[in-house]
Amino acid sequence: MNRRGFIKAASIASLAMALPEKIFGFERTAASTAGNSASQAGPDRGVLSLPGAQTTGSTRGIMLRFAPYQLSLRHSFNLASGSRTTTPDVQVEAVYDGIVGYGEASMPPYLGESVDSVMRFLSKVDLSGFSNPLRLEEILEYVDAVAPDNNAAKAAVDIVLHDLVGKLVGRSWHELWGLSPENAPETSYTIGIDSEEMVRLKMTEADPYNILKVKMGLDRDRETIEIIRSLTDRPICVDVNQGWHSKELALEMCHWLADRNCLFVEQPMPKEQIDDIAWLRERSPLPIIADEAVKRLADLPACLGAYDGINIKLMKSTGLREAHKMATTAKALGLKVMIGCMTETSCGISAAAQLSPLVDWADLDGNLLISNDRFEGATIQNGRITLPASPGIGATLLL
Ligand code: MG
Repeated sequence: MNRRGFIKAASIASLAMALPEKIFGFERTAASTAGNSASQAGPDRGVLSLPGAQTTGSTRGIMLRFAPYQLSLRHSFNLASGSRTTTPDVQVEAVYDGIVGYGEASMPPYLGESVDSVMRFLSKVDLSGFSNPLRLEEILEYVDAVAPDNNAAKAAVDIVLHDLVGKLVGRSWHELWGLSPENAPETSYTIGIDSEEMVRLKMTEADPYNILKVKMGLDRDRETIEIIRSLTDRPICVDVNQGWHSKELALEMCHWLADRNCLFVEQPMPKEQIDDIAWLRERSPLPIIADEAVKRLADLPACLGAYDGINIKLMKSTGLREAHKMATTAKALGLKVMIGCMTETSCGISAAAQLSPLVDWADLDGNLLISNDRFEGATIQNGRITLPASPGIGATLLL
């Protein structure tokens, strides 16, 4: 056994001993025999981590374990709405029949959730009454009804259950959805609002990516684009984060950006200014994409007429199940679909990447922006998202 294998085995043994209830080897249920690999031992079954985690449920059904985890950002993140160097996060595990699924909630402050609110929500989720994890629709309807809002907390439960179910049936979610991994798109790499020196530094890190995403909405918008254009002619996606308040300014900027090989403009104005955004969309040479304006499926109808597409993020949508419904509904309505993320570990990013063969554009670089990732999973090869074949959400715990 190599050192990493030894550490992993020792961690499992010590955690199993520390747990109040027997986790491994308890009675098999109908659900665990539904697939073809549930009975196979091996790395795909997942391992426990999160010492000191809070738990709900019991090993008779599905047990949830969760603990706070602060994400450290490699560079301070500057947006129209503020600046920060960390992102609060809660890591979650679901244990069923000796198999461990992984999930997470990432809470950038502007979304209104916190470690406290997520831990409080998760402590109310009791899955011990569900004996078959494959009944995701029923289980996630229950989770949604535990309390209103709490979208990132709900996403954590959704992701952890998708990982568990995929491992139970021995299939990745892109397979279960019938998606071809070779259709996964390229991902953009984000350049925040920053000094010229930092923009130039970030451009060197952006080298492996064929599409750039530039944050705008402060007073250096044109300057940032000019610096990047002095270095590369790679296409740019622009995200204004609601930072433009005048529709005339927004239209002028859209024309200026269209002349500089930009692909689209995301959330150019505050979501409340929907009439101004519809006015802009009628005249803009670039597609207008909704981000802050659309969280869940029920927000989609209001986007029609004001936006050309939507940016789906698991932490807004309450997870994969609703994200998949949003993507297919948006496509049916003629909207473009983008999949994005918060700063997250490779757990949340790999989960979102499972959906990526469905979308027009992807912005799944949140794991690359942190220095303390706990997982490996979906990777970027020549700028394109590469999905692992492993079951579930495709994230493997790094120990
Ligand atoms: Mg955005």
